[in-house]
Amino acid sequence: MLYSVRMRAAKGGAHEYGGEHISGAERLLKEAQVEDMVKVMVHRALTHSRGKADFIRLTIDRIKEDEIQLIELLPIKTFSVQSLLEGRIYASELLVAAGVTGIAAEKAMEALLHLGENMRGAMVVCSETGERLDSLLGRGIRVSKMDTIDPQAFSVWLGKQGLTDIHVREAAVLAAKVNSAPSVVAELCWSDDPDYVTGYVAAKGKYNRITQLKELGSRRGGRVFFVKRDTDMEALRVYLEEQPVLAIERKER
Ligand code: AMP
Repeated sequence: MLYSVRMRAAKGGAHEYGGEHISGAERLLKEAQVEDMVKVMVHRALTHSRGKADFIRLTIDRIKEDEIQLIELLPIKTFSVQSLLEGRIYASELLVAAGVTGIAAEKAMEALLHLGENMRGAMVVCSETGERLDSLLGRGIRVSKMDTIDPQAFSVWLGKQGLTDIHVREAAVLAAKVNSAPSVVAELCWSDDPDYVTGYVAAKGKYNRITQLKELGSRRGGRVFFVKRDTDMEALRVYLEEQPVLAIERKER
């Protein structure tokens, strides 16, 4: 039996009453691990580089094993860039190579850069027109109920690639779930942690880390899911937010 353990934390009150998003976390865990992970999540919310949360919401749900879908982790590649501009140009090129139009890539980046407040989820954007398709405002879609099938083996797999940071651990699982949705064309992300400037474009079955996608010290971050024009938005939301998935290492092809 597994449990979905979710945390979201804000400062200045709950997110829905205008509080600023501080941190979030999503895991699927065996019962014996739940209590320890709750402690880790609360600690994270109270000691975050974005500030000390004064609102923390923990949600724990039991998941039926037969509801779980298996998905594959994406191979990770890192691209070193010398500047923010180089990083953003490269991200646009990857998006376009994945089938996002230049105008959609540009519009989405502009939207991320001009967010009044950080969102706690992702915006969903049409990969052809760049128009925002979800109507979830500052909430966006929050991908949830996901983990790796073997967290220890996953850490070893990441460690062998020199990737020890918690950001990559979480984002690699999230990106695997997003990429497994048939209507998703590509994902773009940079962190809202002021001290973490690496971002990524996940598309065409690959997770492309780009070493600089934002300014050091910036508290602004965000995620965009580029989708096909005729996407059923409710089906996408239900899959990303409610379908439990466990990610497995990809078999060599
Ligand atoms: P992070 O990589 O955790 O710093 O998050 C960067 C941005 O991605 C946040 O500001 C949110 O807008 C978005 N985000 C974080 N977690 C999720 C999630 N579980 N699902 C969708 N979007 C998320």
